[in-house]
Amino acid sequence: MTLKLDINPIKAWLPHIDNPLLISGPCSLETEKQVLDTARLLAKDKRVFVYRGGVWKPRTRPGSFEGVGSIGLKWLQMVREETGLPVGAEVANAQHTEEALKAGLDVLWIGARSTASPFVVQEIADVLKGSDAVVMIKNPVNPDVQLWMGAIERVHQAGIKNIVAIHRGFTPFRDTKYRNYPNWKTVIELRRNIPNLPIICDPSHIAGKREYLHEISQKAFDMGMEGLMLESHIDPSCALSDAGQQLTPADLSKLLDKLVIRYESANNPEFENRLDMLRNRIDAIDSELLEMLSSRVEIVKEIGRYKKENNVTALQMNRWSQLMDNRIKLGKDLNLDETFIKILFQLIHEDSVRMQTEIMDTEE
Ligand code: PEP
Ligand code: MN
Repeated sequence: MTLKLDINPIKAWLPHIDNPLLISGPCSLETEKQVLDTARLLAKDKRVFVYRGGVWKPRTRPGSFEGVGSIGLKWLQMVREETGLPVGAEVANAQHTEEALKAGLDVLWIGARSTASPFVVQEIADVLKGSDAVVMIKNPVNPDVQLWMGAIERVHQAGIKNIVAIHRGFTPFRDTKYRNYPNWKTVIELRRNIPNLPIICDPSHIAGKREYLHEISQKAFDMGMEGLMLESHIDPSCALSDAGQQLTPADLSKLLDKLVIRYESANNPEFENRLDMLRNRIDAIDSELLEMLSSRVEIVKEIGRYKKENNVTALQMNRWSQLMDNRIKLGKDLNLDETFIKILFQLIHEDSVRMQTEIMDTEE
């Protein structure tokens, strides 16, 4: 399902941008000095385009630092005045949104926990009506592309055209090396459903640890994402939230130096970038296709052994013609060419029969 939403490209609200959209700043605003010292250093790196900072912090459990509250809005205004950088913060209810708009923040973002709640998103969207703020929408904590799209639609229905989606990873349901696992498949699906929506990545909340920031940031560029949100703190070890994943402004610059940003190519950069981006997506899809084929092979072999134990033939015509009819129908529903599907499944089936015959003839 392709949604045609009237969403602006990043350049519409950030005309001087000539690189990926890089947003940086501390997880939480803590003190005026921390906010301004961090901003001064970040602003020296001209690759940083927006300053971020959490004013109200959604914490998973009560008792941890919940943000400085409204005073932080004043500090963000000071950052903008001094550095010229647009500034942004997370809003999680109507009151935050009202205050953030009143303070003239350039960017508002909806956090992962809020995106997961249509009531919260609607409450925020109702306040956004009539404003020209830039609104960034993080993915919900669960990999549900419909829920993510729903939030984007609600904000869009409020008349907001400057929208950016942020991939910040999904809650893992078992131990993984990342704090929130990246799910590029969901991102690809969002891209497919709303092709003109800019999507950036938040490697900080995916990684949870500084050591993984590089690999995730590079992957994000390889996947053609249009920017990064990376947390930066003047003294990460003393940060009141997310201490393990924040970078000093100097380390942020070093990280950026190492990243291959696929924007600088010789002749026709725009064409080459787009081509690269599309090819990277094809590569990712192909690798998923191969993984699926390999899972299919495992099951085919298991069936082969089972048939052997029961003295049943490898080739069973009824099953074969039912499978073919069904796959052609499924393919048609997905707008895939009938001849292509026939040839593809003939090949797949032929190879399955070959593998099962081999099992019958060779395995003990
Ligand atoms: C944040 O950006 O600091 C934050 C809390 O993010 P998320 O909503 O992705 O957890
Ligand atoms: Mn954070």
